Amino acid sequence: TKYLEEYSERKRLYNEVIELKGNIRVFLRCRPLNQVEVANGCTSVVEFDSSQENEMHIISSDSSKKQFKFDHVFGPQNSQEDVFAQTKPVVTSVLDGYNVCIFAYGQTGTGKTFTMEGTPENRGVNYRTLEELFRISRERSKIMNYELYVSMLEVYNEKIRDLLAENSNQPSKRLEIKQAADGMQEVPGLIEAHVHGTEEVWELLKSGSRVRSVGSTNANELSSRSHCLLRVTVKGENLINGQKTKSHLWLVDLAGSERVGKIEVEGERLKESQFINKSLSALGDVVSALASKTGHIPYRNSKVTHMLQSSLGGDCKTLMFVQISPSTADLGETLCSLNFASRVRGIESGPARKQA
Ligand code: ADP
Repeated sequence: TKYLEEYSERKRLYNEVIELKGNIRVFLRCRPLNQVEVANGCTSVVEFDSSQENEMHIISSDSSKKQFKFDHVFGPQNSQEDVFAQTKPVVTSVLDGYNVCIFAYGQTGTGKTFTMEGTPENRGVNYRTLEELFRISRERSKIMNYELYVSMLEVYNEKIRDLLAENSNQPSKRLEIKQAADGMQEVPGLIEAHVHGTEEVWELLKSGSRVRSVGSTNANELSSRSHCLLRVTVKGENLINGQKTKSHLWLVDLAGSERVGKIEVEGERLKESQFINKSLSALGDVVSALASKTGHIPYRNSKVTHMLQSSLGGDCKTLMFVQISPSTADLGETLCSLNFASRVRGIESGPARKQA
């Protein structure tokens, strides 16, 4: 009963927050300047005020400043722990039966993979989330029985590939989206690995990444041109009242958002960049339609939004990390990413306040 009380209290507080802020959050993350940028004399165009957790400034080439607001901003000094502390309440709500989507959006090289996957020394949101889900499951084990399943897939040129399947390069293994009997979007045949602990998950994620890079001459290049999706399915059973829940958490590392010069690119690269543009703008359209609560939500315009349809909208939770580079050299792309963020969230931006 203590759990049920806590649960209804959490739900009440959550609903209050939703009324105030809605179901969609946008976090900004700016990586540090790297050694090459410093060596080339690049400086930072991004300014953070440590007393303001939700705003930052961009310094334009004419030295004017423009203010941008988000639900939270993370600067170069912020750690993976800082990021996860703000992400945790959103991802762990999958255990309470909510469907959740987390996206990392931005130009290649701005830290999307660093935020989601991280490195062995500096693990990212994916691993930390699973660790936390296992921890809470154990904590609630007298009241709730949870089963966790992990799937990992890639969308490249609007084709879905199962990264946990062997021989997933075979065309026969191409997957399609279907509507299941319960009305949810499903991908029949997608492997769901039942997982019991973090080490098992880490091994699965590593093998998925290996499959992802097979067949490409340059792994980094290919991964920046495809979307990588990790799906965690939580099946819960309340041991007191027998109630069962099933929910999905999607952790998505999107393809690089940089514009590719139309003149230099042709053939395969041109096709790829058209698919990327189309799918990223379809995602922007869906999230902005959800945020502005307009009628029609155009889920069907891309594989990613179609597949995630049952986890976007309604009382599902969405969190978008907009990743940027601080460098003067990337100012153009940074402004494009900030525009995308404004579009999905209707974020206020304007000239910086005068300093006192
Ligand atoms: P993307 O996935 O957007 O292409 P990556 O995650 O591969 O970018 O990041 C590019 C490089 O910058 C990597 O070497 C990564 O470790 C580093 N990096 C990104 N974000 C940070 C950060 N916040 N702190 C330290 N290093 C970072």
